[in-house]
Amino acid sequence: MSLSEIQDSVRKAEANAHRPSGSARLIAVSKVQPIDRVEAVLDAGHRLFGENRVQEAAGKWPELKERFEGVQLHLIGPLQSNKARQAFELFDAIHSLDRGKLAKTFARLSQEVGHCPDLLIQVNTGEEPQKAGILPSDADAFIKEARGMDLPIKGLMCIPPVEEEASLHFALLAKIAERNGLSELSMGMSADFEKAISFGATYIRVGSAIFGQRVPTP
Ligand SMILES: *Cc1c(COP(=O)(O)O)cnc(C)c1O
Repeated sequence: MSLSEIQDSVRKAEANAHRPSGSARLIAVSKVQPIDRVEAVLDAGHRLFGENRVQEAAGKWPELKERFEGVQLHLIGPLQSNKARQAFELFDAIHSLDRGKLAKTFARLSQEVGHCPDLLIQVNTGEEPQKAGILPSDADAFIKEARGMDLPIKGLMCIPPVEEEASLHFALLAKIAERNGLSELSMGMSADFEKAISFGATYIRVGSAIFGQRVPTP
């Protein structure tokens, strides 16, 4: 599929869900993609991108941001505390706040540098041991704790287990967000973004459907 076909599908899914056009924003996930594919999407006018590694993003985006005006960059992958300062410089939003230690680091950095990217809390809706994120049962308390640190908590993010019906996870994430008064829902990828939109996604993270299959790194 091409970018414009994905955008059409997004608009259709919004309409089917009786949602305003533009209420689900498309994050083009450019991780591990050859630079010419990323440039083609920039040339087509798209400006919202997602990366899952700080190091990789730092290697390509400062230069691309100089050439293309208005780029917004979101971090959608796990973040080590020692890379948080660099992440603050590079990203407009971070979708992977997943532990108390990181929240404390963000609070300290906000004081030091005088700003903080928009933050989304990652919830491990499938309670998978190998996956990052706050457990659903701990989410309310964690949201409260993070807000208590004056962090700009905008919403929640999830990555459903691959082998399960994603709808259950999207519905759970939406419920936790609603009862905590959070407006942003980052959910849905190439295979299920239309479904995520029907459950209220405000950010969908789409990689391979826009760029083609990721070239495996050696
Ligand atoms: C890679 C990635 C995506 C995009 O996955 P596709 O299936 O290629 O659309 C979305 N979210 C996260 C967190 C990712 O790491």
